Amino acid sequence: MHMRLIDGKVLNVLTGTKSTQCCPICGVTPTKVLEITDFSSETFTPKLGALKFGVSPLHAWIRFLEFVLNISYRIEIQKWHIKGDNKIKMSTRKKYIQEKILKDMGLRISMPKQNGNGNSNDGNTARRAFANTKLLSTITNFSEALLNNFYIILIAISCNYYINSEKFRSFWESTFCLYMQTYPWYPMSPTIHKVLVHGFQINNSTLVPLGCLGENASEERNKMYKKDRLSHARKNSRVNTMTDIFYRAIDSSDPLLSSVCLKERERKNKKKPLSKEVLSLLELSSTESKDSCEYENDSQSDSDSDYNIYYIELEEEDEVI
Ligand SMILES: [Zn+2]
Repeated sequence: MHMRLIDGKVLNVLTGTKSTQCCPICGVTPTKVLEITDFSSETFTPKLGALKFGVSPLHAWIRFLEFVLNISYRIEIQKWHIKGDNKIKMSTRKKYIQEKILKDMGLRISMPKQNGNGNSNDGNTARRAFANTKLLSTITNFSEALLNNFYIILIAISCNYYINSEKFRSFWESTFCLYMQTYPWYPMSPTIHKVLVHGFQINNSTLVPLGCLGENASEERNKMYKKDRLSHARKNSRVNTMTDIFYRAIDSSDPLLSSVCLKERERKNKKKPLSKEVLSLLELSSTESKDSCEYENDSQSDSDSDYNIYYIELEEEDEVI
């Protein structure tokens, strides 16, 4: 058994990473990330056992978008740390980009949500933004080639198919080098570093495709907790409230109960065909991969109904996965 349904904070605790700025897998600091241009540097050697926690593809979408935006806010100043007059410069540009994205793409970026739960940067915002890399690149002034590579990488780590280990490494390495050449003044955030540098290591150390280890199922539960607390928990003490929510979570995540209406929920999932670029990175010839795809489709059942699952358009003679 491996813990896979975890987010960044839990990963930091499990791997003993004290700062959120450091990479949870190898512990490298942002200043070092900026200095090292070699993809296979020894500093990037993973800590013992750190690779078994998966790549957290769902959060990666959001972190990648925020990373692109953070660079875009600084693109005129070309500095990581913002001081003095540059602060005003950056906040003006930030406002301009937020308004432009809202106007041209209809997406609310880094704005507080109306119900007070965090901000508007969720998985759907990120997916919609990356779906139109050309427009996003025009608005943010961020390199379009890099945006395209990021998009391909994000889909590849989110889909339920095996990625070819050699192609994985060379594509990720070329993206890493392209980034280091284009933006040498801004260090990769821990998530970008984790996906780009340790992605292939995590891929090699897992038995199932990376997308199958997504945190979709645990994220999906977040909205249920609110409903359960409101309608299905005693409210005479905090302990009783928590106990009832906990029991209900255990009941409703029971494999038998969660398989009810599975087909219906699967039908409702929006699916998108994979692009040629992503397909060229995948390993599809072996029969084992097809078997595991079917299996993983079952475990996708808990995912959000409006969450896009990427799939492959099959030839007519193939069995539909
Ligand atoms: Zn690292």
